[in-house]
Amino acid sequence: MIFHKSVPDIDRKRIKKALDDIKEFGNKFQAETAHFIEDTGLIIYLDIAKKVGGSGSVQLNDQKAAREAVQAGNLSVEDAAGFIRLNIARETIDTGGQRGIEGTFVHEGKHARDFALMLSTFSQGIEEKIYNPTAFQREYSAHLTSAFYLMRRGGEYTEEGISLGLLFESEGKICVNRKGIRSRLKNNYGLTKQTPGNCLSKSARPEISLPRKKWFGIF
Ligand SMILES: [Zn+2]
Repeated sequence: MIFHKSVPDIDRKRIKKALDDIKEFGNKFQAETAHFIEDTGLIIYLDIAKKVGGSGSVQLNDQKAAREAVQAGNLSVEDAAGFIRLNIARETIDTGGQRGIEGTFVHEGKHARDFALMLSTFSQGIEEKIYNPTAFQREYSAHLTSAFYLMRRGGEYTEEGISLGLLFESEGKICVNRKGIRSRLKNNYGLTKQTPGNCLSKSARPEISLPRKKWFGIF
């Protein structure tokens, strides 16, 4: 993880604490996500929500460098992370506190992993191995992992999950609200199984394409 200069020292500490808590309280997948963020060259950037496009977002940091790395081939998932930027909004930290940071890193961390896997599999250039989820698949899986995290974390985290429609309570038991997640995706993003949005390679802008076929390994 590389902090961009936009992230003040105090917020770097808060983010590190959030990643430690995700490793402690999250499931195996969420702990792996925290490690993926910490142990790679993923860039952490901070700006106001208007610029970030919400509480957090993920994008290519340097589109030209990422496209060139894909074309060069054999890009590992870990190395691909170095071309990706995770943005967190000033408002997420100021009003959401540690809970907001954890939630954002669980959710956006999943998106960052999707991005890295997409770049890596495109660079391998083997069509059957391409990982290229639609916007619906990406948001559904990111919301699902957030829901499981809020459930495991308990207390006010679980309450927030219920109020967001990611969780529900039934006979004293907390459950993941798959129906609630689907209606959130429909209402907030216009995404459904029937209208799944763009594949990730297209959302990357400009589109990531498979490496050009090499002839006799010359070019
Ligand atoms: Zn998302």
